[in-house]
Amino acid sequence: MTRLDGNALAGRLADLMGWDATASEVRCTHCGMRGLLATAVVYISAMGAVVRCRSCDAVLLTLVDASDGRSWMGMPGLTALELRRG
Ligand SMILES: [Zn+2]
Repeated sequence: MTRLDGNALAGRLADLMGWDATASEVRCTHCGMRGLLATAVVYISAMGAVVRCRSCDAVLLTLVDASDGRSWMGMPGLTALELRRG
């Protein structure tokens, strides 16, 4: 498993969501830390990615690529994700 920062997911999230979510601010459910998703810790494996809080190490977000062409995103540790309008 490779340890990277949130920037590693920029292209992948832009492909799936249509925008670069790593430039968005997030808030950790567990410790309340706020910061850009790009600054979180990302672990990449063949199955997908796990994003952890850089403050408390809680799992913020998971991304799994299924073999049928679908991807599954979980956000178990995010209280909020910033969305920008127009
Ligand atoms: Zn945290």
